[in-house]
Amino acid sequence: MSTFKAPKGTYDLTPPESAKYLAVREAIAAPLKNSGYGYIETPGFEDVALFSRGVGESTDIVTKEMYTLTTKGGSQLALRPEGTASVLRAALEANLHKLGNLPVKLWYSGSYYRYERPQKGRYRHFSQVGAEAIGAEDPALDAELIILADQAYRALGLRNFRILLNSLGDKECRPVYRDALQGFLRELDLDEETRRRIEINPLRVLDDKRPEVQKQLVGAPVLRDYLCDACKAYHEEVRDLLSAAGVVYEDDEKLVRGLDYYTRTTFEFVHDGLGSQSAVGGGGRYDGLSEMIGGPALPSVGWALGVDRTVLALEAEGIELELPASTSVFAVPLGEEARRVLFGVVTQLRREGVAADFAYGNRGLKGAMKSANRSGARFTIVAGERDLAEGVVQLKDMESGEQTAVPLSDVAEAVRERLA
Ligand code: ATP
Ligand code: MG
Repeated sequence: MSTFKAPKGTYDLTPPESAKYLAVREAIAAPLKNSGYGYIETPGFEDVALFSRGVGESTDIVTKEMYTLTTKGGSQLALRPEGTASVLRAALEANLHKLGNLPVKLWYSGSYYRYERPQKGRYRHFSQVGAEAIGAEDPALDAELIILADQAYRALGLRNFRILLNSLGDKECRPVYRDALQGFLRELDLDEETRRRIEINPLRVLDDKRPEVQKQLVGAPVLRDYLCDACKAYHEEVRDLLSAAGVVYEDDEKLVRGLDYYTRTTFEFVHDGLGSQSAVGGGGRYDGLSEMIGGPALPSVGWALGVDRTVLALEAEGIELELPASTSVFAVPLGEEARRVLFGVVTQLRREGVAADFAYGNRGLKGAMKSANRSGARFTIVAGERDLAEGVVQLKDMESGEQTAVPLSDVAEAVRERLA
């Protein structure tokens, strides 16, 4: 232990567990790469106003959870709390939407920062893989994204998750609903902060987790009854496409999500083995966001899946990912001359694409064999003076225990043959 520890609310990924996180990121990215999404990477920090304007002045993310800083040059920056606003900003800045190929489909993977009360599944630094489809209003696009997230989770072996689906309406019908909801909420017995929320963002009151609030919400006007015909038809089409794809979802009219930019389709993936941090991912359509950050009208839809909670979900379901051993061959030299020769063999194996490692540090045969075991390598190659005199190494299969003398020049060939 050094004098320092990882900051509160953060944790380090170290081998061997870290391999799980890589595998989860890859599993989420795979269906996206296979569906026309291009990789995008944006800075870890942005102008703070991008988030306050984009995510919403009254959201928890902006009011309570953002890490903000003033640079020596006087710029107001924030560590990114989410990906969508940054990705849209970057796409607009690069004029990707003007290349005549809409929607612009992008995926990303990275670290996000929120100043939250740390608990299991809720950290101050966490990681997400996300996808955004920018510049098209098409229910098939909303369906595509939900289907791809479902496919990613299933590919990981997850089963105990549910998809919650809702429509938040658009700029035609949502204001009418908002008024009706405000009227209802103002009559309830609520605390000061919640009363303020009624005036700024009444839909989010529906999201209140406290049972005493939920009890009073029975009988509240539901958005579904206020959706305009266009929103209704759009939502029906998304639902039909999901059903046709065999993706099971639940209609959840209380699902509003914590970001202000959503319109029409919103969805959340929840896992039933995670306690109160049950959301493993979420997203929706954000037709107004581009204009909110000074761009042209670009109806868009996207999601972000949490890597940390996805790993917890795997653990909750007892799923062990099949991770291939990172080392195929481990070389154990006996003596100085053998060190030089086997180091050469390892270098050659690596150049030929065989994952190989070496017993460094003169720890003796016992220590070296321990390292070989720990590496998970299927084969060890051992050589001493007598082997070298004969121009061979001993190739040992760690599974069967079988050992064969193999000519030095044939090692790579012999390993590849046996691995195949
Ligand atoms: P919650 O309701 O649990 O706070 P959220 O609605 O704030 O989640 P989003 O902004 O939709 O979450 O982010 C998408 C995903 O990122 C979440 O479903 C979750 O898996 C993950 N995530 C969000 N915040 C955190 C966090 N503080 N720690 C770990 N994962 C997180
Ligand atoms: Mg949150």
